Amino acid sequence: MKRPFFTYEEIKEICKKYPTPFYIYDEEGIRQGIRNLQKAFSWNKNFKEYYAVKACPNPTLLRIIKEEGCGLDCSSYTELMLAEAIGCTGDDIMFSSNVTPAEDYVYARELDSIINLDDFTHIEFLEEHAGLPKRICLRYNPGGEMMIGNTIMGNPGDAKYGMTKEQLIQGIKILMSKGVEEFGIHAFLASNVLDNNYYVKLAEMLFELVVEINNITGANFTFVNLSGGIGIPYRPGEKCADLMYIGKGVKEAFERIIKPSNVSDDLAIKTELGRYITGPHGILVTKAIHHKDIYKNYIGVDACAANLLRPAMYGAYHHITVMGKEEEPNTHVYDITGGLCENNDKFAVDRAMPEIETGDILAIHDAGAHGFAMGYNYNGKLRSAEILLKTDRTTQLIRRAETPMDYFQTLDFDEDLSRIIEKRK
Ligand SMILES: *Cc1c(COP(=O)(O)O)cnc(C)c1O
Repeated sequence: MKRPFFTYEEIKEICKKYPTPFYIYDEEGIRQGIRNLQKAFSWNKNFKEYYAVKACPNPTLLRIIKEEGCGLDCSSYTELMLAEAIGCTGDDIMFSSNVTPAEDYVYARELDSIINLDDFTHIEFLEEHAGLPKRICLRYNPGGEMMIGNTIMGNPGDAKYGMTKEQLIQGIKILMSKGVEEFGIHAFLASNVLDNNYYVKLAEMLFELVVEINNITGANFTFVNLSGGIGIPYRPGEKCADLMYIGKGVKEAFERIIKPSNVSDDLAIKTELGRYITGPHGILVTKAIHHKDIYKNYIGVDACAANLLRPAMYGAYHHITVMGKEEEPNTHVYDITGGLCENNDKFAVDRAMPEIETGDILAIHDAGAHGFAMGYNYNGKLRSAEILLKTDRTTQLIRRAETPMDYFQTLDFDEDLSRIIEKRK
């Protein structure tokens, strides 16, 4: 049984203050999740999580995450701006981009962030546009399929990211000859994985790779970046990833592979988790505004796929709680839909739920990562507000909702449009 991180009484009060739809985030949950991660990797001297900013780029949340000792994983110019704005520089920033514009590299170098090169050709590109730093990370793509037992976890051979092993070795030789002193290796081979053995297997692969490349080139490896990918239980029956098991498994691989090698025991583990950090701690709150009974039964809500794209884009499951009806039996079968002129604008399809009445508050769970962030303005829909539920149970508006003025802002206004915006705002 999935429960929201607020009570019915609390959310009724919050809805009086802020009109739906809105995102709400649980400060306490985010902090606890980070502490659990850090505990699981406390055996590693220089362990550091770099929160993937793209998962939820709100500076108030980023500050909380930074306060817990994390850095930020950025991949674009504006994400670097957010990082700089909250006081991250140098080792606090991992710049893991791909198809990177020159100005992004220039900015990343200016902040002295750790640059994670996605491709062999970017060595020359970076040198030409921004100069080479003293430490650098390279992204690996092993090709083929990522298997655990008989299960395919991911399909790196089909992915645009990273370099082949030959390119890594060649690249590191070139970088060493140009004065680069410290290296890291990164790989991101599967997403939203609940199998606890994924990270362990990935760590083994990267540890072995680091030892092999160190033997060939003598390169000084100071960290391995396990990237993102730890999944969250979107469905009620699924189990949370077992962080202690994962940390212990990575430690065993470290002791088996790194300890007896020439690679230093100071080798740090770095992660770039996004979904694990904020995913479960964000909920999209929406209200039922329409009923429609034709060949199926529909509940229309005031949020739509422009607020939360994952169900429409990937058919992703997001659990939905009808607030105040947590104990009622699932006697009805509904499609829960938004108002886009797109038939895939459905938060749930054929979902068994308690009877829903107009005005009911629905909590769409696990929307704290890749939720608000993937929002868009199709059909002229406006982005919602974001609210923080603080540890003391008070709320703070951390992003106001968009207004029509925001939507029209980038246009060259003529008088007629200005007059309508003024009248209808
Ligand atoms: C998206 C991304 C992440 C975060 O992935 P999650 O699945 O949210 O953990 C980390 N690193 C890179 C390079 C990414 O693109």
